[in-house]
Amino acid sequence: MSFLTEPEPPRGVPMPVAPGISRIVAPNPGPMTYRGTNTYLIEGDDGFSVLDPGPESAVHLQAVLAATGGRVARILFSHSHADHVDGLPAMKAATGAKVYGWHTPQDDRFEPDIGLSEGDVVAGWTALHTPGHAADHICFAGPGGVVFSADHVMSWSTSVVSPPNGNMTHYFESLRKLLARPDDTMYLPGHGPPITRPHAFVRGLLVHRTQREDAILACLATGPKTPGEMVLVLYAQVDPRLHRMAERSVVAHLEKLRDEGRARAEGDIWRRG
Ligand SMILES: [Zn+2]
Repeated sequence: MSFLTEPEPPRGVPMPVAPGISRIVAPNPGPMTYRGTNTYLIEGDDGFSVLDPGPESAVHLQAVLAATGGRVARILFSHSHADHVDGLPAMKAATGAKVYGWHTPQDDRFEPDIGLSEGDVVAGWTALHTPGHAADHICFAGPGGVVFSADHVMSWSTSVVSPPNGNMTHYFESLRKLLARPDDTMYLPGHGPPITRPHAFVRGLLVHRTQREDAILACLATGPKTPGEMVLVLYAQVDPRLHRMAERSVVAHLEKLRDEGRARAEGDIWRRG
């Protein structure tokens, strides 16, 4: 699986990514957010739809207001993780725009004004419920085979799947859901540069996760283990500071395998099913 990299992007300046769509990268770079959260500005007849306000940042808010001339018709959010929605209250206050998001947000501090259900269309973009990274995650499919894939499919890294709000079974299903659709021109992720030939990329993600799952089963074949013990085997080459997140991913895989009857747990000890 080869992921994409990009140089340090310009800050506070919209970068065109597709017809009528530009991207502003928020000033929250980090080990989980790459260069920062992507805020997308989608131009329409009635003004701009802003997808993902991003973190709470006066500088970022000002950049969005400047780039749109303050003509924000609506605010959409892909899921209620802090790096995507902490800036929502200030953006809503500054623009008066209505907020659209999944009807049952994971974090109820970010209750949308208009709760979306599967297939709802907002300004020409169709909401696709894609749980896995987050239970309330939605992608938006639009004209020309373009999809806002947010943190479900990212260009720079795999997605974190951390139970209980992350669910590996749902993540696999949501990847296959995108593959079953015709949109294959470009995915616009929540972090990192656009993905061209996105279906091939998603197939790569499925292979990558299936290999991880096989490695977990192989690890259990040598005897019962806790997730922490499995991390020491499976992630021996990885920076120990990342082991805590790796353990969440191992637990997510184990729960999927348990639901499929391929693994079982007694307390924190897992064995093959
Ligand atoms: Zn994110």
